[in-house]
Order: sequence, then C-alpha cells, then structure tokens
Amino acid sequence: MTDASLPPTGQALIWRDRANALIAEGLIDGRGLVEGQRVKAVAEETFECRSPIDGRLLTPVARGRQADIDLAVGSARRAFDDGRWAGQAPAARKRVLQRFAELIVQHKDELALLETLDMGKPIQHSLGVDVPAAARCIAWYAEAIDKVYDEIAPTGRNALALIQREPVGVVGAIVPWNYPMIMAAWKLGPALAAGNSVVLKPSEKSPLTALRLGELALKAGLPEGVLNVVPGFGMEAGEALALHLDVDALGFTGSTRVGRKMLEYAGRSNLKRVFNELGGKSAFVVFDDSDALERAAQTVAGSIFFNQGESCNAPSRLLVHERIADDFVGRVLAQTPNYQPADPLDPSTVMGALVDEAQLRTVLGYIEAGHKEGARCVAGGTQARAETGGFYVTPTVFDGVRNDMLIAKEEIFGPVLSVIRFKDEAEAVALANQSSYGLQASVWSSHIDRAHRVARALRAGTVHVNQYDEDDITVPFGGVKQSGNGRDKSLHALDKYTELKTTWIRID
Ligand code: NAD
Repeated sequence: MTDASLPPTGQALIWRDRANALIAEGLIDGRGLVEGQRVKAVAEETFECRSPIDGRLLTPVARGRQADIDLAVGSARRAFDDGRWAGQAPAARKRVLQRFAELIVQHKDELALLETLDMGKPIQHSLGVDVPAAARCIAWYAEAIDKVYDEIAPTGRNALALIQREPVGVVGAIVPWNYPMIMAAWKLGPALAAGNSVVLKPSEKSPLTALRLGELALKAGLPEGVLNVVPGFGMEAGEALALHLDVDALGFTGSTRVGRKMLEYAGRSNLKRVFNELGGKSAFVVFDDSDALERAAQTVAGSIFFNQGESCNAPSRLLVHERIADDFVGRVLAQTPNYQPADPLDPSTVMGALVDEAQLRTVLGYIEAGHKEGARCVAGGTQARAETGGFYVTPTVFDGVRNDMLIAKEEIFGPVLSVIRFKDEAEAVALANQSSYGLQASVWSSHIDRAHRVARALRAGTVHVNQYDEDDITVPFGGVKQSGNGRDKSLHALDKYTELKTTWIRID
C-alpha cells in the first residue's frame, strides 16, 4: 500500500491548503527581476512551471533570452560602475545582507513551500535544511566581509606595495535545480558581499525561489540593478549570459557536460573567469575493521536517499570489504523502508518526487542499464505513486556492481546505490579513485592509521572519516578532476569573486 491511499495528516492538509491557495489565487510570480522591477520577458514568451509532486501547473515563467540577458547585464554593469554597491563600505554592505538573511528567515514558510512545489523535495527538508542554510550562508558572508583585510608586501624602505582584493565586476551565476535556494545563496553570499553585481540564471526546472530571493534582497536595501534574476532555458538565457562580453566571472553549478561548455563560452568570448562546481560519483568506503557498521549503514542510506538522491555529493558508490559485505548490505537494506517516497507536502515524508519526468526517465534508464549489465537489484528499482501524476522512484540498491558498469561510472542523480566489493585496502583506494569525478568520499575504519592513510590517498575535494553529513558554511565545498574547480563556501569562495590588485608606491 502506498501512502497515496492513506488519509493525509493534519499538517499535510495545512500545507496542501496553502499550496492550493497559492496556485488558485495566482500568487506565484514567474516574471524576471531586472533593474529592481518584476518584468515579463522582452519577447513576452513564457514557459510552464509544473510541480513534480503531481504535475500541476504552478505558473507561467518568463522565458528569458539574449535580449533579456542584455538588459540584465546592462543593469548590473551600470550598478557596478557607478559604485552604488561596490562603493559602499563593507560594514554598510554587511547590514544590507544581514537584513536579507533575516527576511529569508521571516519568509521561511513561503520559500519552503515554493521550493517543495517547484522541485519536489519534502517540506520538512525545505523548511529545516534549505531555508536555514540559504539564510545562514548570506548572513555568514555579511558578517565576514568587514573582517577581511588586504595585504602589504614585504618591500624595501623606498616602496610600499599594496595587495588589495577588488570585486571582479559583473558575475553571472548559473545554478541547478537540486538545491535551488542554497545553490543561489552560495553564489550570492560571497559575490554580493565582495561588492559585485550579479545576474542570476536559475534552472528552468526550479526558478521560483530565486525570483523571490531577488525581491527579498531588494526589500532588504540592495540597490536596484545589483541583483538581476533572469529565468529561462540553458541554451537560451544560460548561453547568452555565459557568452556575454560584459560578464567578468561565471559561478556555475551543474553538470559536468554543461561545465565543459562554460569553459568553451569563456574561450569564445572574453576569457571571463569560470568557476565550475560539477557532478560527482562519491565513494563510501567501509572497512572490515570498522566498529560502527550500523551507523555506517544508516549514514550511507540517509545520504544517498536524501533529496531523492539528487545531490552532487550523494555517496552513490558503496565500496565494502568482501568479508563483511553480506552483513553490511543487509543492514543497508533494512534502512530502505524508511525512505519510501511519499507526499512531499506531508511533514513526515523523507523522500519526495524527482524534479521532472525527464529525470524520472533518466533514473529508470540507469536502473534498466544496471539490470542489463548483470548487477543484482536487491531493493526498489521501480517507479512509485504514478497515480499522483508526479515522478517518484523507490529507494534502489544494486549489489554485485563492477566499477566499470554504467551505474558505477555515471552520475545517476536519483535514489540508486551501487555496491562494489573489495578485497584489501589497495583495491579499495584504487576503485574509489577510478572515477572521472572527485567531489567527496568517505572512509569508515576504527584503525586511526588506516583512516588517515586512506583519507590522504582518496582524490576528492572533501573526505569524511566515520561520518558523511557533517557540513558547514565555514568549510570549502568543491571537487577535483571533472567535479570542477574553485570552491563554494568559506572565505575561500571570495577568491572567485575578487581580483587581486597590486599598487606599487615609490617613497622618496
Ligand atoms: P545542468 O548542467 O543541466 O544545468 C545547470 C544550469 O545550467 C541550469 O540553470 C541550466 O539551465 C543551465 N544550462 C544548461 N545548459 C546550458 C548551456 N548550454 N549554457 C548555459 N547554461 C546552461 O545541471 P542540472 O541538471 O540543473 O543539475 C544537476 C547537476 O548539478 C548534477 O550534475 C550535480 O552533480 C550538479 N551539482 C553540483 C554541485 C556542486 O557543488 N559540485 C551542487 C549541486 C549540483
């Protein structure tokens, strides 16, 4: 029996009523935000924004193209050049951004509901993870920016050499749909704090919260034109932004396929700086000397099925020592009933809907490929809740996977775990590193030398030891190899949105 046949709980009814009212009263505004105004697309075209929860039309959204990007970049350029934001003291920018963060928290119910309706994640996560993380990110950069000092070089007595950070100018931020608010905040926080103007292009699959964030930033006192939000498709608005000659840097988060294009666009246009945060196929390595196997099993299940598996850092390859593999897989399988997809508007739901039908087809296609290549599907592997009109997949585990199978090599971006067995430490490290990606990894061992040794040997931007989900705005996030360059979060993110300028002064 799926939960669709159960009566909704009281809380779920409240969220559904709110959602119905929002949609029925036409309160969701899909227009872009340019020069401080909500605007239709220049060509007055729109595209349909549908909810993956049940296929319902949420609102038409402005379909931005070259002309819209030209207006938005022009607005951002003017705002940057006249210093209405870049020229303010860091402490003044800090106050505006703090207000922005406070407004995000004040609008938490509305933002969380929009996020859940737009991309299908459970309301409890939109409320408990996405909204607070976005607000904390903006607040953190606000608080940091008047504590960042420049440098003076160690010159001789007859010179003074200043090394200063300056904002790069106009930043193009192109973000994905899996954490729409958080991904936008990871770009906006450091870019705006550093004094840049930004043109934000949210994913066509989840544009709604980015537009609302733009409005809240204005309300907080961000001057007009400093943040423009242009919704639209990748090949239209995205490409126009990435190729624009007046954009100085691109903060991109998305697939490795499109990240490659970002580098081409920069090469074909003005060599703008490109910072790519891309895909992953993270390895979760469990040794037979771990005395935390139950916690490891709970952790890997919790992480791969979180956000319906639509996380760049999802630990989608479980590497487990052959001696404990059967026992460990059994423990993971015991977790899967906790992650059955259910109504995202019910606050007790932990796994919601995939973002759209295309993503559903992609995930089911990989599941089929797993079967064809001879992996054993030991849990899930099916579509669920089709009667709702939404796009749901059951938590899926494949055992007997080889590292060269498609489901071990490619990012699935769905709730699918591949189990690969290894004989010894050397093989574990080799398998973990045999990937074109290098975003994150995890090692589970109660042997301190092994934990350190393997953590050093793993090629990933972040390695977790005996845990997976510790995370904070204070630490950098990003990958090596084809998982990208550059780092979001922490003070290191400021490197992306500032240029170093040297000023030599002669002293007679
Ligand atoms: P995507 O690459 O398809 O799209 C990302 C953004 O790029 C969207 O706004 C899209 O409209 C735009 N875009 C697409 N084609 C474009 C083009 N030709 N020119 C310009 N813009 C274009 O990715 P997605 O499906 O939205 O997101 C999922 C991907 O994001 C996964 O690969 C995931 O791993 C990655 N991701 C990475 C991180 C990280 O920090 N490393 C975080 C979240 C998601």
